[in-house]
Order: sequence, then C-alpha cells, then structure tokens
Amino acid sequence: MSLDEIYQQVILDHYSRPRNKGEVAGADVSFEMHNPVCGDRIRVQAALEDGRVAEVRFSGQGCSISQASASMMTQLVKGKDLGEARGLIARFLSMMKGEAGDYRPLGEAQSLQGVSRLPVRIKCATLAWHVLEEGLRRHEAGAAREGEGDRG
Ligand code: ZN
Repeated sequence: MSLDEIYQQVILDHYSRPRNKGEVAGADVSFEMHNPVCGDRIRVQAALEDGRVAEVRFSGQGCSISQASASMMTQLVKGKDLGEARGLIARFLSMMKGEAGDYRPLGEAQSLQGVSRLPVRIKCATLAWHVLEEGLRRHEAGAAREGEGDRG
C-alpha cells in the first residue's frame, strides 16, 4: 500500500466515523463558516477550562475532506492549551499552503497534506481550522471587553 493509499484510508475512516461530532453544552466558543465553492458548512463549539480546550465538537455537512478534516482537528486540539491549539492550527494552515515544515505534531491530519496539491479542495480541508481560529479570536475579543467592563 502506498502512503497516498494509507492517507486515503485515514480520511475515509474519519469521514465514516467522525470523532467529536455533535454539540457542546454551555460552549464558550461557537462559530460557523461555510465554503461556498463546495457547499461545506462547519460549526465548531468548544468549552474552555483553565486556558485549555476542555471539550470541542463539530457539526455540519459537506464533502469527505471537509468533514474528515473537522474530525481530525477536534481530535488534535482536544485537551490542548490555547497556545498549543493555535500553534497546531497555524502549522496545519502552513502545511496546506505547501510550505516546508515538520508536520508530525499534526498526527493523522498529516494525511490531508496531499490535498494542498489540489487548489479547489484546499478550502474544504482548512474550513474547520479557520472556524476554530476565528471562534477563539472572537471569544478572546469578547473576554477582553468584559475585562474592561469589570475595571470600569
Ligand atoms: Zn468540500
């Protein structure tokens, strides 16, 4: 079996048995984006605790690459602190731009590296990662505003 075939199986496995699919009750982060080119739609919800991603789940629909990538993303960032989670998102996006780097920390998400050679599918693979990145950014912006309010 070639490496491409093994990667293909990892993607299909995540697509047919998605990890962390569903909703998070009382989520701190909840954000949704879609990819109009392919029709993919992903919502990511996360509960944060002590600066960590205590719980993270996704919902939505779309092609196998978008759904498998969301599954891999949630599996990877669950339990990580926010700095690590952001670093992993940046690393994944760098891989999908075709940049050279050490992508072993991405675990099974490395199986999507081949998609970086298929320009029309890159947005399918990066959707869930952009959703979490933007969801965290908005959460922090909101938390900062609340902090200012407390001081006033
Ligand atoms: Zn797609």
